[in-house]
Amino acid sequence: MLPVVTEEQPIMEAIMLNPVVIICGETGSGKTTQVPQFLHEAGFGNSDGDNPGMIGITQPRRVAAISMAKRVGYELSLTSSQVSHQIRYDATVSSSTSIKFMTDGVLLRELATDFLLSKYSVIIIDEAHERSINTDILIGVLSRVIKLREEMWKEDKEGTKPLRLVIMSATLRISDFSENKSLFSVSPPTVNIAVRQHPVTVHFSRRTPADYVTEAIKKASKIHTRLPPGGILIFLTGQNEITGVCRRLEERYGRKALKRKQKDRLNRTSTGEQKFRQSDERTHKLIVNPTQADVEAEDIDNDVEDFAPVDERFDGDAAEEYRDDLESEGDEDLDNELGIDTEVPMHIVPLYSLLSSEKQMDVFNPPPPDSRLVVVATNVAETSVTIPGIKYVVDCGRMKERRYDVANGIHAFQITWISKASAAQRAGRAGRTGPGHCYRLYSSALYEHYFQQFNPPEILRVPVDAIVLQMKNMHIDAVVNFPFPTPPDRFALQKAEKVLTHLGALKKSSTLTSQLEPVSGQITDLGRTMALFPLSPRYSRMLAAGQQHQCLPYVITIVSAMSVGDPFLHEEAVQVEDDGQTSSETEDVAQLSGGRGMIAERNRLRRKAYFEVQREHASLGEFTSDSLKILSVVGAYEYHGGAGAFCSDHFVRLKAMEEIHKLRTQLTNIVQMYFPTTNVQFTSKLPPPNKIQIKVLKQLICAAFIDQVAVRKDLVSHHNPSSGSQYSNSHGVPYRAVGISEDVFIHPSSVLWNLPPPNYIVFQEVVRTTRVFVKGLTAVNPA
Ligand code: ADP
Ligand code: MG
Repeated sequence: MLPVVTEEQPIMEAIMLNPVVIICGETGSGKTTQVPQFLHEAGFGNSDGDNPGMIGITQPRRVAAISMAKRVGYELSLTSSQVSHQIRYDATVSSSTSIKFMTDGVLLRELATDFLLSKYSVIIIDEAHERSINTDILIGVLSRVIKLREEMWKEDKEGTKPLRLVIMSATLRISDFSENKSLFSVSPPTVNIAVRQHPVTVHFSRRTPADYVTEAIKKASKIHTRLPPGGILIFLTGQNEITGVCRRLEERYGRKALKRKQKDRLNRTSTGEQKFRQSDERTHKLIVNPTQADVEAEDIDNDVEDFAPVDERFDGDAAEEYRDDLESEGDEDLDNELGIDTEVPMHIVPLYSLLSSEKQMDVFNPPPPDSRLVVVATNVAETSVTIPGIKYVVDCGRMKERRYDVANGIHAFQITWISKASAAQRAGRAGRTGPGHCYRLYSSALYEHYFQQFNPPEILRVPVDAIVLQMKNMHIDAVVNFPFPTPPDRFALQKAEKVLTHLGALKKSSTLTSQLEPVSGQITDLGRTMALFPLSPRYSRMLAAGQQHQCLPYVITIVSAMSVGDPFLHEEAVQVEDDGQTSSETEDVAQLSGGRGMIAERNRLRRKAYFEVQREHASLGEFTSDSLKILSVVGAYEYHGGAGAFCSDHFVRLKAMEEIHKLRTQLTNIVQMYFPTTNVQFTSKLPPPNKIQIKVLKQLICAAFIDQVAVRKDLVSHHNPSSGSQYSNSHGVPYRAVGISEDVFIHPSSVLWNLPPPNYIVFQEVVRTTRVFVKGLTAVNPA
């Protein structure tokens, strides 16, 4: 019996007596599949009952929304429209739906059109411990919706019923919800589900191999050929890795592969290789026979250490010796590892979010009786989906995470270390049905030093202006007052609203609004389009507004380049050193070819070439924009096939150019997806923009940085307003920038440096060295 079942009565009592209830219980205790059924049996979601509204359950992942709806429908013997799922592109919802599983994004979008969630009688927010932005925002919004519904119910408005909220978590870390007075003025009661967890022995690797994918295959092979029956669950980071591992395991241990091997062996036997066969059979008898359960799991590996970290058991040199010792043993190559034969086929099942829904259900189908279940999964198997019969866990220690790069404003999926809490969850998957083993493909030292205790909530990892834009897109207008479970900085929120208003993503808030209430503008159509891109809103704006005059391919390139940063080398980096530290080789060359004078001559030529290149690229846009100069060099680089030689000839960093290239491809794909009619193609032969396009590009850049504008100081100073004709170049000419109290100056790296200073410039960044310089400049066109 599932542990949650013994808690049915306390859970239902708490839900009937309180508007908000928190349920904590280990993964696999039955929360997701059973709690909706308790509610259903108590009459929720029944059109004739007291609480006719639907039972809604949110999941952070599509896989879980689909598979849990199926499971509950099956357990209740109801149809897929009675117990339905809804994800972004697929739904089985109908008027007869009483239980609805959905992704958290779906419920957020529903809130935008029906803030009272009038179709629901109860909402269950599942997996709240994951702290995804959507979950956090949902809990914040729902804390207000339940209040409103309660008030309306008390005033007996149109037969409104109160809405109940159940928050479910796989961990006990819930204080951000339970003790947050701005969220819930009365702390909601918590029901804890006690679970019997079998012991799991954790084995760290001695080293942390970079190729964890191959390592995972090795480990699974060892477990399979040497250890007693029991399912294996392998945690990897994403679809490509997973399909690759499934294929490679299938080739070696799939049913077909084993049949083929058997045939080969029979052939060989008939040619008289008797001796080989005998020893071979002995090996797999030992493994196949389930009565041999006393084969120790630890035996499979001489390159694992026990749970106690090595460093605690050995110190100093001893520990080193111990490591070296094992290192030499553990270095067999993969093919050797796989040489051991077995007659037990692997039943290999992948599990990741984009898998079709029937395939997803495969993990729950019992494997054929003579085989071993091997599930290769993302962290969806960490807490959302419990797979029966797992005895061994192989944990790569990494996950793919949406990360925001503060420096360039780009969201990207990055592979990062998991937290200690996640590692514990993964290990726990091996102990649901009996004692188990977890093999960690990383060292205990790495775990101790590099794994955070917990994952910080997602809301603290992304830029505030992007969050504000997303919330406005959901019609949450009073962002500053919003009851976040973990609030971002208040001033940052205010500033983000200002920037978004400047960018045209939000309507200017009415000046008539009372000064006491923080004014907040609503989203515009432009803002809605901007919200589609995984970029800092400034860059999204350029893309969203850049569809005129076939400018998109250029905008994509500029945005990619701005995000990666200036690829040009500095003038100083161009010099061959002449300070006695020159490499002996250069020294020799110098001697042979006439000494130090030669170095000076070479430097002179290099400098000349450097300035010629700068001039060549700056001439795109006629020396008015650093961004156009970069556009020029990126265009030329791609045109020449992205070669390293180009980079040294043009004094740009190869790595930066490669990154820009990658981003360009990515952004082109996104644009194609959202604006199919623009018909943007990735091309390496992008012709230089024409005059009109250059003008549009500069306007787009100026509009994106409209709040980062500087005006030449003499134009605003009361004493000597002038036309600026006294300046022949920008060297040391002071500017005034909005929000900066000191004078700012044009940076020597800018295309504007040697020209008469423009009246207005927009800038991308401010740096303080000997002076306060502005960089990434574009001159604002005279009106
Ligand atoms: P929790 O939400 O507390 O982590 P679940 O309700 O998801 O727990 O799972 C309870 C049990 O139901 C687990 O043992 C799981 O393996 C089983 N289960 C869930 N879905 C299915 C399914 N489609 N087929 C078979 N068993 C399932
Ligand atoms: Mg669950």
